[in-house]
Amino acid sequence: MIEEQYDMLLELQKIDIDIDEEEKKKRNLPLTIEGITKKIQGLKDSLKNKNENYKNLQVKLKRIIANYKEEKDSIEEDVLDLMEEVEDLDKSIGHLDEDLKRKEKEFRKRKEEMDLASLVIEKNMNSLNIKREEILNKITDNRLLKEYEHLRKEKGGKAIMEVDGSICPGCYLDLPSDAIYQLKKNRKIIICPNCSRILIWKD
Ligand SMILES: [Zn+2]
Repeated sequence: MIEEQYDMLLELQKIDIDIDEEEKKKRNLPLTIEGITKKIQGLKDSLKNKNENYKNLQVKLKRIIANYKEEKDSIEEDVLDLMEEVEDLDKSIGHLDEDLKRKEKEFRKRKEEMDLASLVIEKNMNSLNIKREEILNKITDNRLLKEYEHLRKEKGGKAIMEVDGSICPGCYLDLPSDAIYQLKKNRKIIICPNCSRILIWKD
């Protein structure tokens, strides 16, 4: 009979151990739930961070794209302005080039004319100098010649003048009547009392 009691006790103990085990599990359950909750919270936090990061990146990207478009527009504007300037300059260079060619052509023509004129002048000078030498040989009064040359320099052109009235054609002043008389009668050469030019009566 007593053996039966022991068997029952053994059976009871087995059940009590199982109950202990279950109670232990029950006690540990909240810890597990807390762990899981923490993990979920961690994942939520991580997700929130990543979402914020994503939003920030999107804002940054939009800003960069906006800046890029703005810069692109500005550069395109600059390029158009420069192209217009280049075009204007090209036209201007074309016009200047034409103008230069026309002027060079004109210059060549003028140069030919001037070379020709220079030749004519040279020829005239030669023949005038020959005539001058001939006349100089005929002038024997050296004092008069020197006076003539001096007066020509001083008066800037005409030293000797022909008179056909009462006025000196060099200084346009009236000549004294005796001077005119002398000129008319004797065809004498006189000196204008005003401007010192040599005067001779014109027949
Ligand atoms: Zn005079």
